[in-house]
This record gives sequence, structure tokens and C-alpha cells, in this order.
Amino acid sequence: MRVRVSKRALVGAAALATVAAVVALVLLPPLPTSAPAPAWAPAITTARGVFHIHTTGSDGTGTIDEVAAAAAEAGLQFVIVTDHGNATRAPDQPVYRSGVLCIDAVEISTTGGHYAALGLGRAPYPLAGEPRDVVEDVRRLGGFGIVTHPLSPKADLAWLGWEAEVDGFEWLNGDSVWRDATLPRLLGAAWAYPLRAAPAIASLYERPRAIARWDSLLRSGRVVGLAGADAHARFGLREGREPYVSRVFVRAPSYEAVFKVASLRVGLPQPLTRNAARDADAIVAAIRAGHVHAVLDALAATAFFEFAGKGGGVAAIEGDRLPGAEPFLLRVRSNPPAGGWIVLFRDGVEVHRVKARDLVYAGDRPGAYRAEVWIPARRGEGFMPWIVGNPIYVGGRERQAEAVPVDMSGPVVRLDPADALWGVERDARSPAELERSADGVGLRFTLTDAADVVPFAALDATTTIPPGSTGIAFRGRADRPMRLSVQIRVVTAGEGKRWQRSIYLDERDRDIVIPFAEMTAAGALASGPPDVANVRTILWVADTVNTDRGSSGRFLLDQVRFFSPRVPRP
Ligand SMILES: [Zn+2]
Ligand SMILES: [Zn+2]
Repeated sequence: MRVRVSKRALVGAAALATVAAVVALVLLPPLPTSAPAPAWAPAITTARGVFHIHTTGSDGTGTIDEVAAAAAEAGLQFVIVTDHGNATRAPDQPVYRSGVLCIDAVEISTTGGHYAALGLGRAPYPLAGEPRDVVEDVRRLGGFGIVTHPLSPKADLAWLGWEAEVDGFEWLNGDSVWRDATLPRLLGAAWAYPLRAAPAIASLYERPRAIARWDSLLRSGRVVGLAGADAHARFGLREGREPYVSRVFVRAPSYEAVFKVASLRVGLPQPLTRNAARDADAIVAAIRAGHVHAVLDALAATAFFEFAGKGGGVAAIEGDRLPGAEPFLLRVRSNPPAGGWIVLFRDGVEVHRVKARDLVYAGDRPGAYRAEVWIPARRGEGFMPWIVGNPIYVGGRERQAEAVPVDMSGPVVRLDPADALWGVERDARSPAELERSADGVGLRFTLTDAADVVPFAALDATTTIPPGSTGIAFRGRADRPMRLSVQIRVVTAGEGKRWQRSIYLDERDRDIVIPFAEMTAAGALASGPPDVANVRTILWVADTVNTDRGSSGRFLLDQVRFFSPRVPRP
């Protein structure tokens, strides 16, 4: 049987197909606008790269060679790989692959969000636990820490350590942009992905809420802002969209597409030399110094941006500090496409904007000044940040971890090292013994590596806490760097409720002061503030949070005492 197709039907079908094609072309997310060449010669050399990448070293799907090849395709000069870890693996040496400098770093999981660390060597014990402790450890070990995906809607990824003084802040997390997008928006971008990958991802972007949060941190001190990719090239097809849980996944969005969406420009004193170690040092040093801005390359290309200032005889670029007492001049130069703006903020509040390529601002007020370059949004009204720079800080001081002194002026109750109240707690497999000497009381332990137990070893003191005491203090040292958990325990109906504060010890004597109010609930049973009145045991615990299975250690305590503030006499 012959199927007769009328000429009219054919013409109709062709017309329909043409309309569909035109509609598709119109709806396709646009290619990057071409930005005009700058009318000035940039004074600072920049290197283009991407921070926050996962490989097969953790939950990414690409090898480091595949990542480097994708980076080369995207025109990057460096990548900073941040596979998940606890920093006990020595980072790989920097190396050029496919012409791209690969810098190895680590993304550490705390109990309150993730903290990426650059320039960190091999840690002497697993870095984990509360955010404030991981932040402190990364700083002590000479690393530069960056809070990643701080405002993630996922409870276990959102940052909770806001009281800690972090070095850096990831105001854009590329992975979250599409992973947290609503399904209709995701589908709206997904169909265009095979045709225009980077623009399809970029079509999901909105002004990140985390920029405002970064600004609020800047009001109290220096914090370097970074855009991160969080590239995994992994999209789980089951059990939600988490990279961790799903074993069935597609390798999308690709590393190359993600690398083309947004990247960093790091300001360098001289061009990269092709000596991997030296170049990596220069890039990490520039990021530490805040000599870095981020560009949403998928919106417009090629970006140029320079933020400089002078005042009080000092010259500054983004990340630097000017003295606060003198009037100063700031200048931002960039090359936004037609309709774009340069916007200057002080402590998060807009102070000046120009619809031009050159902004000059004369000021005399201290604060953190940072610039953004905006271009008209593709959808709807308003503007998208195309370039986001780091601040020039005017006046003020570098933040210092100057803790408010704890009031210990009142009565003190000492625990005698010779007293019978001292004891040992441990799992059935981990040897641990009490050590007593003229120097104090301590513990020698080895955590078992037997797989069938959760190992721990603890020095304990069976005692109540004298009424009115507000904390515990002691002098401590250990045979090697270690982090212990100081715990207070209340036993009711055979169940132990515990509150803890983790502390760092090493070979030199350290005076440790722990207000009970700073202790947090540990384990599943306790919650809220510590129930100090009912405490029966104080413990110094080595467990797998910060101590490797199979490792040994020894620590010694002296001058263990409960303290209280002086009560003013009426
Ligand atoms: Zn993370
Ligand atoms: Zn990550």
C-alpha cells in the first residue's frame, strides 16, 4: 500500500520544523557577549584558573589528567583540586599537565560544613570535628582555609562555624547553582546543554545570596572571597542528586563546560614561569593576599578588571590595605559590554556606580571597598554580576584571634594528681594506662585498628564540679601534636550525657581554659547547654575524630582546676 502524502502536508511539516528550529534557536541560551577590548594596558599580570574541583581522588568522575585536559580546552592556566579528605594525605606536588598547572588541596568535612585548605602540608592527625577547631588547625598548620558552599540548603553542607575567623569564603559555588535549582528550571537548561553546555549552565545563575553574607563578614575583618566550581562531572540518577549517594550517574555537567562558566583571575607579580612549584607558590600567595577576582565567563568575554587605590603614600590593589587616617583615591577599570556598570561597595553598601569603563572614587571613610562589574541580565530585568573583585581595605586592623579573657579571679578548686579520682576508660581492644609523676597525671594509649570496635582511650576524673565553677583549666602537653576531646559526663538512668570541647596539645606546655558555656553537646543523648550541676566525670578523650586508628600517644596534665569568676561584694 502506498502512503500518499499530499504536497500541502509536506509543506506544513516543513514549516512546522522550521518554526521549531527557529524557536529553539531563539530560546537557546546565548553565547557569551563579546566584551570590548580595554582602552588601557593592564598593569598586573593575571593567571586564569578554577578553584574547587573533585576528581576520582574523591567523588568526582574524572582523573587528574582528564581534568587538566578539560581545563586546557577551556583556556585555563591552573586548577586547584580539592578532593575530600582529612588532610592526613600529603598533597600531590604541583605539576603541569596538558599545559595546565595542577595544584592539589583538600576539602575537609567538619561537623558544621566544609572547609577547603590550600597550602597545607600533611596534617599530623585527622582534621575533623567542629568548624572552629578545623579552622584553628588549618591556620596553625600554615594553610589557607576557605568556607565552601556556606549557604547550601542541604543541612550537612551548610556552614555553622560563623564565630570562627575564616581566611576565605566561597561566595559562588557552581555545583550548587544547578544542583539546588528547581526541577522546571533544571529541565529548562538541560535540553540546551548538548547544544550549548556552558551557556545552558550559566542560564541558571542568579546573583548569589552568599555575596551579602561575605559582605557581613567583611565588616569585622579581612576575608578573601572566591568563586568555586565544585566540579564533580557527576549527576546521580537515583536517590536524589547527591554525588555521594548515587552509584548510577551521568558525567554531566562536564568539567570543560563548568570551567567555561566561571573562573578566577589571580594577580601575579610576574607571568607564570612553567616551574610548577614556583608557579603554585605564586598563585597560592596571591589568593592568600586577596589579589584575585572572579569572572562569569559564560556571560561575556574577554574580561579585564583592575582595582587600585592610593592614600597616605601607599598604593594598593584588590586584597591590600590602605591606612585609614588619610583621604584616598580608588580606581576601577574594566570593559563591560554596552549597558554594563561598574559598582563600588563599602562594607556591602553601594557608594558609587558608573555606566562606563572607568570608575574613580575619592573617599576618607574606613571600610572594605570592593567592586563589581554588572551586565544586563539575560532574563527579566536587572543586572548580573559579571566580575566580582576582592576588597581594598581602608583603615582598621587585620583580624586577630584575640579571645575575650575568661574571668578566673574567683575561687579555684584543684584536682590533685595523686588523688584516687583518676582513672582510665577505653574500648576492649585499645591498651591505655594511667601515668602519674611529679609532673602531673596523664595517659599513654594506642587506639586499636581492629575493625570491629570504635576505638577510644580516655583519662578520667571521677568528681563533681564545685558549685559556682564556670569552667575547667589545666596545663597540658603531649608527645606529639594531637587533638583531644575534653568532656563532662552526666549519668542518668544508666545513660551518659556528654558535652565536649576539643583542644590541641603538643610537646610544649599549653595553658588551656575551657568555660563550660563553650562546651557543646556530644553524642545523641545530650542537647542544649551542659548540665554542670549533675556532672560526675571529666574525661580527656582520644577517639577517631582526631586520632588515627592504630596510632599511639601520650599526654600529661598538671594544675587541673575548676575556676569561677569573683563575685562582687555588695
Ligand atoms: Zn563540599
Ligand atoms: Zn566540593
